[in-house]
Amino acid sequence: MKIKAAVMRELDGLLSIEELDIAPPKENEVLIKTTASGICHSDYSVLHGVLRSPLPVVLGHEGAGIVEAVGPGVTNVKPGDHVLVSLSPSCGKCAMCLEEREYLCMEMSKASNRGTMMDGTTRLTAHSATRHTAGTSSDEEEVRQLCGIASFAEKMVVPAGCAIKIRDDAPLETCCLIGCGVTTGTGAAINTADIHPGNSVAVIGCGGVGLSILQGARIKGAHPIIAVDPVAEKRALALSLGATHAIDPFNENLKERIKEITGKGVHFSFEALGSMKTINDAYSILRPTGEAIIVGVPNLKEKYELPVYNLFAEKELRGSVYGSSRPKRDLPMFVDWYMDGKLKLDELITKRIRLEDVNQALEEMGRGEGARSVIMFD
Ligand SMILES: [Zn+2]
Ligand SMILES: [Zn+2]
Repeated sequence: MKIKAAVMRELDGLLSIEELDIAPPKENEVLIKTTASGICHSDYSVLHGVLRSPLPVVLGHEGAGIVEAVGPGVTNVKPGDHVLVSLSPSCGKCAMCLEEREYLCMEMSKASNRGTMMDGTTRLTAHSATRHTAGTSSDEEEVRQLCGIASFAEKMVVPAGCAIKIRDDAPLETCCLIGCGVTTGTGAAINTADIHPGNSVAVIGCGGVGLSILQGARIKGAHPIIAVDPVAEKRALALSLGATHAIDPFNENLKERIKEITGKGVHFSFEALGSMKTINDAYSILRPTGEAIIVGVPNLKEKYELPVYNLFAEKELRGSVYGSSRPKRDLPMFVDWYMDGKLKLDELITKRIRLEDVNQALEEMGRGEGARSVIMFD
């Protein structure tokens, strides 16, 4: 079967829109007709080498669509079901899944490091009639699937555990954001952190993930909720989604402003950019016993130097992966929250684009513009 997809062939280059072959789903796999895919900052990070993937690869890991076919052994979804694609295959067998920590499923790291299905192969192939591959005599070329998903494509084959059925009346073109950014952000605030009503929260970086963290903090009853972002439109958006204060870190002294607002620093700080500078900022604005939760993904080879005296103020620093979520429980719950008006998602979408415009949207993301672009498919 032929599909159109956005393929990354080189670092720092442009994605090329190509026709690929997609193979039918094998055992415990699902074929999904893509309705929409968000563009996540991690796609940008892979394109620019901050996160690594074997090439060529179809990017995109925030997809939603309708099940078209299932392979042998699939019982959780059937053709016609509306699904979100989870980053975790929730294998149900590994040590982390057995501890109900599906967000750390050991099969997920295989899929994300290799860009393949669970069996180590992909379902996407390019042909040399349309592309030439140097140094190989074969006219067929295997194309990887970012996170084992590859949602910048008209169809996706994903591990069955990644296909999460949701209610039919929820709009897929908006709920797709729950596949990565919203679960990562809102999950960090409601699962990773133990926020109590009245706890103070600061969120550094107010893109799609940061705004989702902020909403999770609002739902948990945090106060004050302080949004930190140099872009005025993002601060305004943050204030409209539940932030009580906003700080421009380029023109205001972050630590002093946080002290003014909270007295001693915040109970919880969240970092949603993935830069060492802002990880440091997140730790530096904590009150004694405060917790800094790092959600943004920096270059994984970076090292963090910890000021030891802070340990004796019982300040904590911890990461949060995929919102510490249990996808089968949390993704449909976030959809319900959206449908009930509790979780705002439409406001996070800056624009809807066609697959052909993906490079422009990635460039805008690099300049820090807008919260989220969503690719729409027919
Ligand atoms: Zn993502
Ligand atoms: Zn597992």
